[in-house]
Amino acid sequence: MTDTIFHKILNREIPADIVYEDAYTYAFRDIAPQAPVHVLFVPKQDFATINDVPEESAVVIGRLATAAARYARQQGFAERGYRVVMNCNGDGGQTVFQIHLHLLAGAPLGHFGTPR
Ligand code: AMP
Repeated sequence: MTDTIFHKILNREIPADIVYEDAYTYAFRDIAPQAPVHVLFVPKQDFATINDVPEESAVVIGRLATAAARYARQQGFAERGYRVVMNCNGDGGQTVFQIHLHLLAGAPLGHFGTPR
């Protein structure tokens, strides 16, 4: 699992608007934004789905959340609020099998979870 579209973004093999990178995490704007701000936070350590993250690697997901919150503060919308989402497998709507956290912001997002 070293050749997903997100690896290509990290390796600058395909273009993306990368807004954040540190030793553990990178983040870039979603190509099909579902809100005025839609950024994906991806760990540099690979897991296909959240099902594959063992307890001892919980910090990987914690870092995604804290990086997203830091970005929200830096961009000035932390107090207004935002949503973070991780999709898992088919019913969760996951399409890229490298774990990532969606940060959605920039407008009132309403409630969520309405089945389609
Ligand atoms: P998920 O459906 O949770 O797996 O999320 C995958 C996300 O990756 C979707 O919201 C896509 O719009 C986004 N995506 C796919 N390809 C790209 C790309 N080349 N650049 C930025 N975002 C992408």
